[in-house]
Amino acid sequence: MDPNRRTPLMAPVVESRKLVCARSRVPLPLSRVCFLLASSLWLLTSGFWLLTSAFCLRAAGWRYQLLEVKPHVFVWVPEDIRDQESDPDYDRAGTAGFIITDQGVVVVNTTNSPFHAREILFEIRARTDQSVKFVINTDARPDHFLGNEVFADLQATLVSTVEAQAQMRQYQKELSRRLDGDSYLASAMRAIHPTLPTKTFQGEWTLSVGGREFRLTNVNLPTQAGAGPSPGTAVVYLPDAKVLYLGDRYENGMIPRLESTGFKPWIEFLRQAEGWDVDVYVPGHGPPADKREFSEFRRFLEFLSSRPDAQPPEPAPHPKARPS
Ligand SMILES: [Zn+2]
Repeated sequence: MDPNRRTPLMAPVVESRKLVCARSRVPLPLSRVCFLLASSLWLLTSGFWLLTSAFCLRAAGWRYQLLEVKPHVFVWVPEDIRDQESDPDYDRAGTAGFIITDQGVVVVNTTNSPFHAREILFEIRARTDQSVKFVINTDARPDHFLGNEVFADLQATLVSTVEAQAQMRQYQKELSRRLDGDSYLASAMRAIHPTLPTKTFQGEWTLSVGGREFRLTNVNLPTQAGAGPSPGTAVVYLPDAKVLYLGDRYENGMIPRLESTGFKPWIEFLRQAEGWDVDVYVPGHGPPADKREFSEFRRFLEFLSSRPDAQPPEPAPHPKARPS
């Protein structure tokens, strides 16, 4: 992350080049010339390797973006890759965020693993010494709450809707069953301990931290007949900043997991949210958006629902490329 950290890698190359230049001023026997040519070639190759390595370190350090969408209001956007250290069914980390106040930090979602949650904590610590007071889980899906343990260790209060907490508990139970005899899953989840919210709410709840309001609304959309329960998503609205964190009610630039939620109530909710006093809409996946981009998602869902074969599909099965 810090470009200065890579400076020592370059130092030996610069020093070696000085030595070669100094020696080339005096006549040398052929064997020494060959030796110096070979040494120079080796040094050039080494320099190229070191440069390449330095570049790779830099690239590896930029697996996510941190955007300050309003003063002290941050959005963490991961690169869209499949993580090895997570539940393979939820191996794409969700977008998250945090808000810094002068009386503590509020985190919105913790991604699909403690590893990413620590990246978020690193960014918080780079900006403030304030403690993390609350973590809000917008969704029950593991790609948004499997990093909870990092903030639970810091004594943060974990918050979700009643429905989301129940679904997370269900996930926890099923995970124990899934782990039985599945060495691949056991390896992927070996350092991850699903940690549930300790505080729940129904309907609406307003949280105040450092003079800032966080208005939480349970968007418990009706489900299709015969389908599973609704995830009970909590959306988080900051009225002073005009920022709305939507969790998986909004996926920017990606085809959403439709699962059990029907199109009609979802589209109706999105239409309502378009009318709210919001400048920045933060999705559950992808980068934040303005009102125009946000309305494109609603139109996309309308297009999907208008198709004669429109049915909420099953989540895509995980590729069978697991090592045995
Ligand atoms: Zn998600």
